[in-house]
Amino acid sequence: MNKKKRRSVSSKLPDVGTTIFTVMSQLAHETGALNLAQGFPSFEPPEALRERISYHLNHGANQYAPMTGIPALREAIAEKIARLQGRAVDVDAELTVCTGATEGLFSAIQAVVHAGDEVIVIDPAYDSYEPAITLAGGITRHVPLQVAANGHDFGIDWQRLEDTITNKTRLIVTNFPHNPTGAVLSAGDLDRLVDAVRDTDCLLIADEVYEHIVFDGHPHLSLLSHDELWERTLVIASFGKTFHATGWKLGYCVAPAELSAEFRKVHQFTTFSVSTPTQHGVADFLQSDPDFYEKLPVFYQQKRDRFCSLLEGSRFRFQPARSTFFQILDYSDVSDADDLTLAKQWTRDIGVASIPLSVFCESPFTGSRLRFCFAKDDATLEEAAQRLHAL
Ligand code: PMP
Ligand code: GLN
Repeated sequence: MNKKKRRSVSSKLPDVGTTIFTVMSQLAHETGALNLAQGFPSFEPPEALRERISYHLNHGANQYAPMTGIPALREAIAEKIARLQGRAVDVDAELTVCTGATEGLFSAIQAVVHAGDEVIVIDPAYDSYEPAITLAGGITRHVPLQVAANGHDFGIDWQRLEDTITNKTRLIVTNFPHNPTGAVLSAGDLDRLVDAVRDTDCLLIADEVYEHIVFDGHPHLSLLSHDELWERTLVIASFGKTFHATGWKLGYCVAPAELSAEFRKVHQFTTFSVSTPTQHGVADFLQSDPDFYEKLPVFYQQKRDRFCSLLEGSRFRFQPARSTFFQILDYSDVSDADDLTLAKQWTRDIGVASIPLSVFCESPFTGSRLRFCFAKDDATLEEAAQRLHAL
């Protein structure tokens, strides 16, 4: 009897390999290197917050949460948005709790991108955007950030962005505060963005997971703070960075009712709802200690300054990061190797793991730069800096 041959899987993502964060963390683990690659803190979430989650875990909050998130958490998030960004959001119609920013981004992209739509991302672009766009049948257009004359600052190339918008452009994905460069938006940038999209059908997804980690006294200007941008934007945020809790995968999507309704149609079948005790615990903590995230800029700025001062006198060139918990180091005086090769080589040879920037770009333009996560205890930062100094 003829047996039918099993049909081989035809990949929907033929060009996608394993994410750089897994690759580098795995290598750091195998080699025992200090892991300054994948972005996660080496310290614990606040004790009072852990206590609240454990309380709810032990007091019956263990079944499905509402699909849109528990009301107390949505209300606490709305309060934060009103206070910091001056926008009153409708907690029933405009705010949805999701499984970290990754799910929020994925659901938002599936909700608004149709087959054949063009989507603009800004390189270096976080690596989850393009696969989500491809799965939605969209076509990704990459617009590189511009490097300023000082060789350190990155900013949007407005002309290039405007030239890339066509009548097929359905969506632009922004990510400010920007991972990995630390670039932030100014009020003027928000106005430029409005000008760029005003006469188009283009929606916006704003990945703002580093909203609470902006330095040197600068405020975070959310896209939702701007009346005209708000009408066409889905803002995606995460508590992973804000509460030193990347493993909890708790995030949220804020968007006008019509966009939120479409977002929820996808979210309900991607994940339905998010861990119940975690939501209750975070709601309690946001209400009892709203100051925690307001102290984050100072907390992380001290880490940044410590790491940078430890690297003074080394052969690396850098400018202290403007936001996020990542420091870019320019190694052009140290090595001619490409960034991916070097990141792996230094993980093995000197025991410090980092992230190359080129993997986030369609046409690599970021040159001899690596990203180092400084969300680490002082001893780890000191040891890492000592090893980098020796190069
Ligand atoms: N976007 C950016 C820019 C990130 O750096 C990360 C990682 N924190 C995410 C999205 C994903 O966030 P989460 O861990 O909440 O899924
Ligand atoms: N956002 C984190 C970073 O940039 C990694 C998240 C992940 O590993 N998926 O390092």
